[in-house]
Amino acid sequence: MEYLIAIFWILFSFAIGFFNRTRGNSTTTAFFLSIFLSPLLGFIIVILTPRNQEIIENRLLESGDVKRCPECAELIKRRARRCKYCLTVQTEDKIDTAPSGYIRRSTLIKH
Ligand SMILES: [Zn+2]
Repeated sequence: MEYLIAIFWILFSFAIGFFNRTRGNSTTTAFFLSIFLSPLLGFIIVILTPRNQEIIENRLLESGDVKRCPECAELIKRRARRCKYCLTVQTEDKIDTAPSGYIRRSTLIKH
C-alpha cells in the first residue's frame, strides 16, 4: 500500500511539474516542491503563482503558428489576413519579425 502511495506521489509530482511548465514557470521547481512538501501543496503553490505570460507568448511565437500584430501587438494566427483584436488587415510586409515596434518605428521616421 505504501508502495502504491509513493508511486502516485511521484507521478502527481511529475504532472504538477509539467502543469507548471504550461503556465510558463519552472518544471523542476514545481516537481521538487511536490516531492518534498506534497503534490497537493505543490499544486496549490503552482495555482497561486502568476503565469509567466512572456514565456508563454515566446513559446507560441517560436512554434511558428502565430505572429505578433504590428498594430496592437497581440498574438494572432500566422495565416490570418485580419487581426481579430484591432481588425487591421495583415500584409506580408507587416509581419513583425524584428523586436516589437522596430519596423513600424523605422517607417515612421522616413515619413
Ligand atoms: Zn491587431
